[in-house]
Amino acid sequence: MPALTDLRARVERAMDRLEQAAEALSRAIHADSELSGQEVRSARRLVRFLEAEGFSVRTGVARLPTAFVARKRGRRGGPRVALLAEYDALPGLGHACGHNLIGAAAAVAGAAVGRVIDRLAGEILVIGTPAEETIGGKAVMATRGVFDGLDAALMFHPSTEDRVHTTSLACHSLEVVFHGRAAHAVAAPEQGINALDALIRLFLALEHLKHRLPPEVRMPGVVIEGGRRANIVPDRAVGRFTLRARDSQTLRRVEREFRRAAGQAARATGARASLRSLDYPYAEMISNPTLAGLFKSELARLGRTTVDTPRTRMGSLDMGNVSQIVPSIHPYIAIAPVRSPLHSRAFARAAGGPRGRVGLGIAIRALALTALQALAAGGVLEQARREWRKGVAGRRRAKPGRP
Ligand SMILES: [Zn+2]
Repeated sequence: MPALTDLRARVERAMDRLEQAAEALSRAIHADSELSGQEVRSARRLVRFLEAEGFSVRTGVARLPTAFVARKRGRRGGPRVALLAEYDALPGLGHACGHNLIGAAAAVAGAAVGRVIDRLAGEILVIGTPAEETIGGKAVMATRGVFDGLDAALMFHPSTEDRVHTTSLACHSLEVVFHGRAAHAVAAPEQGINALDALIRLFLALEHLKHRLPPEVRMPGVVIEGGRRANIVPDRAVGRFTLRARDSQTLRRVEREFRRAAGQAARATGARASLRSLDYPYAEMISNPTLAGLFKSELARLGRTTVDTPRTRMGSLDMGNVSQIVPSIHPYIAIAPVRSPLHSRAFARAAGGPRGRVGLGIAIRALALTALQALAAGGVLEQARREWRKGVAGRRRAKPGRP
């Protein structure tokens, strides 16, 4: 096998040559923003680029029309390392989460490693994961086996800070429908069963429940339906809730308590409750220390310093589900100041402007060189796998569920 320093130099030269292609991909996806699940042209742009780089591509994987798996093989055997792309935008805001940069970075970093893969044993993959902002494409793809058999999964996300150790909350969204009975709310309210009463009771019960659950648990809800006219006892009330917890095990407990509270609210009013899942549950993100360490040293070489203190504010990531299957990282690279947070218009501008371009260049370098070391440096993936086993066992493997 050629020396790692030689391979590194080759990948660096490849990235220099691909710089314009990277910017063109990022710019085109940013300018032609498409919503979750409808990222047809964005996916096609990435697929065409990868095919031209010699990747063989399968589209529509996991029965998601805008998902794809692109692969380029080296010599027989060896590990399989995947770079994950996102490319969906937000309604009314365009690329306010900077997924144009994620898509371009994964494809171009994959292409750069792909240009030396014939000198190595193993395979480099670029996996197109759509609809991150809605259903969580990776959560769906995880249940359909797309990430099985990989040795590492890497992606980056633009942000307002540089950070390699990511944590995220486990999450599941539910809809509760209370079924009551309509009656004249003034003349004969006793003949009705007030479904809205049941829903209000559930909201109040959750306030009490909070005190018995770990402090990071969140259960925000909204009323979707609560009756039509004040003089009719509402026979139907609908609420939607998103449950969040530190890990999947705690989330299952929260969900049990939530279901019990909905049942009690129904019994107290005489209504009937029915619950349904609104999405694939998200598992918490387990950042792989070895892979994160490699990414961090690549960032340091590029003059970037990471924030390593624990995150105080967290959301949920569909990458969490991938991290339960394969050693994974989801590092952040700053492209905007703290006062321009994700999902703001200012962040969308940054993702399409000069700071986004700088972040893209850094992301490509850090991703490609981390992937190269995973493929070519002895012992990296063995260590990553050992840590993964410990991390997952420590939390009792969170089985990605179905809605
Ligand atoms: Zn995002």
